[in-house]
Amino acid sequence: MKFVELLYNTLPIQSKVKLNQSVVDILQDALGVSVILADGSVEQGDIVVASDGVHSYTRELMYKHANNQNSAKKLATTLQSRYKCLFGISSLPSGQTAGDMVETHYKNMCIQLLCQAEHVFWFLFVKLETPTTVKVNYTEEEALAFAKQYMDTPVTSSTSFRDLWQKGYRFTLANLEEGVQKQWHSGRIVLLGDAAHKMTPNLAFGFNNALESAASLTNHLHKLLESSSIPTENSISAVFKAYQTQRFSRAKFSHDLTAFYTSFAAWENSLMKWASIITPKILPETFPVDQLAKLVKGAVKLEFLEVPERELGTVAFDDEVETKYASSMAIAWIGGLLAVLVTGVLWSGIGSS
Ligand SMILES: Cc1cc2nc3c(=O)[nH]c(=O)nc-3n(C[C@H](O)[C@H](O)[C@H](O)COP(=O)(O)OP(=O)(O)OC[C@H]3O[C@@H](n4cnc5c(N)ncnc54)[C@H](O)[C@@H]3O)c2cc1C
Repeated sequence: MKFVELLYNTLPIQSKVKLNQSVVDILQDALGVSVILADGSVEQGDIVVASDGVHSYTRELMYKHANNQNSAKKLATTLQSRYKCLFGISSLPSGQTAGDMVETHYKNMCIQLLCQAEHVFWFLFVKLETPTTVKVNYTEEEALAFAKQYMDTPVTSSTSFRDLWQKGYRFTLANLEEGVQKQWHSGRIVLLGDAAHKMTPNLAFGFNNALESAASLTNHLHKLLESSSIPTENSISAVFKAYQTQRFSRAKFSHDLTAFYTSFAAWENSLMKWASIITPKILPETFPVDQLAKLVKGAVKLEFLEVPERELGTVAFDDEVETKYASSMAIAWIGGLLAVLVTGVLWSGIGSS
């Protein structure tokens, strides 16, 4: 929430942000879009950026428009959940310090702890018996019943899940949808964030990808507005297409890598289990982080703003300096896959069969 607040405080016209409103319909023509809100009011503009999350209703409206344009062809990618996740926040367990990342592996299950000064964000990932495409809203009772099954499960060598639970402030149980939409725009509507590319949280790439997509779309729109203050439908479509072209492969790569890592961390097969145990003994400790950095350093930035002066990190972004690393996608793929083989155990507090 702090981040949203920071962004909100920098807005030049805050009254444009309407809270507690939901979109019910979108009408578009050659002159612009009209967004109908639940209270009956109408917002008008040139484009709609559908950033309304994994179950995006605006995406449905976009596909309705696209399907009308394509003789009722069905274009939407169906999201699938293979895992469910109970996640929560608790007081920092004894033995852990701020900055610790602990990952504990089991057959078809994985527990992650991300430690801060006073509390820990924890995630209990469990493979579903059967993958589902159905949207599920778990009740608090269902989440409690789920948690009860894991109370005696060790999460570090000195902490059980019960210890975390007893010091917990909040928890949520949710299925983890996965999928990248093949089409991100139609007419004046464009998808952004989870609405376009949804991945599991295991490698923490979801929001990062949403931010990159926002930067890419903004760069393209900024260029368009420099050349024309009243964009046409064609010029808007061209911008949306260029945005999807720039972002699709990186988002898909993040999605695929994360999907693989989710399976790997949950020891879906014996090869994954033994690879996660053996590879840290062979490769240097920094290897997984270096590999992930190769992906992160290619991130999109806002091109029309000066980057504030700051100390360069250990790994520079592609546009900052030439690095010794090759940046091709093929090498990133190989490196990324190797990285996930190692990351699991480096983050492991303990391993259990
Ligand atoms: C447990 C968990 C942990 C995560 N950890 C990380 C992490 O460490 N790092 C990381 O990068 N990512 C992480 N993610 C992923 C990250 O949360 C998402 O990728 C990110 O929030 C996506 O942003 P979004 O704006 O696309 O969608 P959302 O954050 O889902 O926002 C969508 C917004 O649209 C609104 N909305 C929905 N429907 C309508 C409508 N009809 N009308 C108007 N408004 C509507 C919703 O109220 C909501 O405010 C995690 C996800 C989960 C589940």
